[in-house]
Amino acid sequence: MEVLTLTIQKDLDVLDATFAAPDLTTFCRLDELGLVVLGQHLQPDRAVLACRVVEPDRWCRECGCEGRARDTVSRRLAHEPLGWRPTTLLITIRRYKCTGCGRVWRQDTSRAAEPRAKLSRTALRWALVGLVCQHLTVARLAEALAVSWTTANDAVLAEGQRVLIKDPDRFDGVKVIGVASPATPWTAAGAASSRTCTGTAAARTTLFTAPAGPCTPATTSSPSANTSA
Ligand SMILES: [Zn+2]
Repeated sequence: MEVLTLTIQKDLDVLDATFAAPDLTTFCRLDELGLVVLGQHLQPDRAVLACRVVEPDRWCRECGCEGRARDTVSRRLAHEPLGWRPTTLLITIRRYKCTGCGRVWRQDTSRAAEPRAKLSRTALRWALVGLVCQHLTVARLAEALAVSWTTANDAVLAEGQRVLIKDPDRFDGVKVIGVASPATPWTAAGAASSRTCTGTAAARTTLFTAPAGPCTPATTSSPSANTSA
């Protein structure tokens, strides 16, 4: 059998303009969090990325004097599970002491996560999309993030409140709203069990929308019944 071969005249040492040099920081979208990767520790079932904060934070917010670098502390954040392998950020954070008033503070990591959060902002968004759009369970999210069920549940509900529920424009363009049970969506049985829904179902409510058209009169007996927004 004849085999066709295609000869490409290309110097492998010359980079194609389409591709940038491989960069773990941008690949993991840590540049969006104000972090840069310093090292990686890969295991079959998890990955740890050593990071540091890019921006220095050496000016005192109390008196405006310059701070002197004092020491460092570490913070661990669950990150988006790349390739479904739990990925943890081990962030080294510099601490400063003010040369004027003596105040001590840490580098600002608010771009990466909320002050006492255990999940990065990227992980929060990943988990919320997984729950709302891909219908993953909280247990599956927690497993992928390598955090406890409670941690995942609390974090996702808080993010859902912030992004979905508290958004004053969330109903813009929405014509119909429905609620589906996580157990048996869009069935009569689902309607009966929908009373077990918690804030999770509330978060989903804003996404279960239908295109413009006539609305079905609202009832409480069927999940296919819709309520006009
Ligand atoms: Zn000061």
